[in-house]
Amino acid sequence: MEQVAPLAANVRDAESVVVLTGAGISTESGIPDFRSDSGIWSRFDPEDFHYRRFRNDPAGFWEDRVELHKTMFGDGIKPNPAHDALRELAEGSYLHALVTQNTDGLHESAAATSAELIELHGNAHHVVCDSCGRRTNAGPVRERVESGARAPRCRDCDGIFKPDVVLFGEQLGKNDLQRARKLSREADVFLAIGSSLSVEPAASLPRIAERNNATTAVVNFDETTFSAVADFDIRGNVTNVLPALCEEVTD
Ligand SMILES: [Zn+2]
Repeated sequence: MEQVAPLAANVRDAESVVVLTGAGISTESGIPDFRSDSGIWSRFDPEDFHYRRFRNDPAGFWEDRVELHKTMFGDGIKPNPAHDALRELAEGSYLHALVTQNTDGLHESAAATSAELIELHGNAHHVVCDSCGRRTNAGPVRERVESGARAPRCRDCDGIFKPDVVLFGEQLGKNDLQRARKLSREADVFLAIGSSLSVEPAASLPRIAERNNATTAVVNFDETTFSAVADFDIRGNVTNVLPALCEEVTD
């Protein structure tokens, strides 16, 4: 934690601070991760959530999707002290942009500030019509599925609603990805939080920032693929480190 004070000084002096968050910040809100031994993919088959299945068997897909949603988010989820610290930094205009790999929507309160929010993998609380692109809340759609509706359809065009997340077999949103890369190039400080940085595009964003002379930091419980390169490599629980950082910055 002795690295927190000098990192905070960098954050305070920077014009552009970009944060990338991964599953490690969500697990502290009780959301299971995907790949560990007790993770989501130990209980569900990833193939059931492939875009191909959504197209071929939307009713079956949606039945499984409702179960997955319940397993991930239970009766409701709340931001934890790490989310709160990021929101506070954003409110103080210390945070320029927040890029997340998470679909839980827990950074939405930070998005109410001047900070830009990019949800690379989408947002599980929304659905999007696969035909006309209309977006709406996922809650009522899940309720329709639970009360026996087959694949839920868009009332505008009769297309089928898809969770507004990037499914297996789908590409990430091109605009989001380009925007995230540009922000990473222009960042003075790049913080990677709660991500192992092992999958694209998360893996390359801190490297883009580093090549463009940003100060880089990793906050994660375990070593990451970028830890040896980062200017600051802080190992610890994000719910301890982020509030401490926020306090140093805003003090
Ligand atoms: Zn539609």
